[in-house]
Amino acid sequence: MTSFDLVEPRSLEEAFRYLDPSDPAIRPFGGGTALMLMIKAQMYKPQRLVSLGRLGGRFSGISFDANACRIGAMTRFATLEHSPEIAARLPVITEAMKTLANVRVRNVATVGGNLGHADPHLDLPPIWLVLDAKVTVVNRGGERVLPVADIFSGYYETTLGNDELIAEVEVPVRQGWRSKYVKVTTRATHDWPALGLAISVQIDGHLIKDLRIVLSAAVDFPRRLLGAEAVLRGAAIDEPLLQRAGEAAAEEADMESDSRGTGDYKRHLLRAHLRRAVLALAAE
Ligand SMILES: Cc1cc2nc3c(=O)[nH]c(=O)nc-3n(C[C@H](O)[C@H](O)[C@H](O)COP(=O)(O)OP(=O)(O)OC[C@H]3O[C@@H](n4cnc5c(N)ncnc54)[C@H](O)[C@@H]3O)c2cc1C
Repeated sequence: MTSFDLVEPRSLEEAFRYLDPSDPAIRPFGGGTALMLMIKAQMYKPQRLVSLGRLGGRFSGISFDANACRIGAMTRFATLEHSPEIAARLPVITEAMKTLANVRVRNVATVGGNLGHADPHLDLPPIWLVLDAKVTVVNRGGERVLPVADIFSGYYETTLGNDELIAEVEVPVRQGWRSKYVKVTTRATHDWPALGLAISVQIDGHLIKDLRIVLSAAVDFPRRLLGAEAVLRGAAIDEPLLQRAGEAAAEEADMESDSRGTGDYKRHLLRAHLRRAVLALAAE
């Protein structure tokens, strides 16, 4: 491993002095779980890493008000996992933690680093999308707030500038919605998924009033399945409807073949797990 500087600014002004929009060898450092693997594998050779651990303020902590939950970018997964408020109000996140990596990773990996890494197999990004979350990005000129979906631009690629920092994620409080994330692994449960499927529904009896469906892992970045959503929106749940929704999902999802299965196999998984997830949410 080649040597590099690790700096720990105590303010945003100081952080921006260390970051450089034109130098990819300088990067922000959250928990370092993804960065260190890339450095050890010599896929990335940093000159300077800018740790965000001492910034505090909006970068840290979890808070709720009547309209939203705000989660600072430096919030560690273990904090999400053990938060009673998250468990009560956003249980889909607590549930996802049960099969996310291992305790050593969850103790250090951060919400911001997870988004910045933009690996399509990650478990949290499809959940943020399905919850309709927004992200605040800060830069020298101020800040911009964008839907989490707009962070991703390709396989391991984001729309973030080299000197932009994810500061916090904001999840709206939506009354009457239920959400589920299915990590479809073909080997061990905590393995990388062949596909990830997140669904959020507003159901009245068996009538789906509104919903969001997000596919991840089998595609280059998480994306909504708008065709399947359109089939299900406003409809009463029965077997023919679920079949039509499964076909719409399989048709619109352009899924890659890889070591976890062929595109056809993943389309089969998608049809089956979409049906099961909708039925499970209706039964809750
Ligand atoms: C053994 C192992 C098992 C794993 N298993 C799973 C799993 O089952 N499910 C899963 O979802 N994930 C899994 N992961 C991946 C893990 O979730 C990510 O490595 C982690 O989320 C990255 O967060 P971090 O804070 O460590 O990021 P870092 O390594 O610090 O950074 C990652 C990237 O984000 C950038 N970055 C960091 N913070 C910010 C910020 N605030 N603003 C802008 N850019 C930023 C960095 O510059 C870098 O490009 C696993 C990882 C390991 C090592």
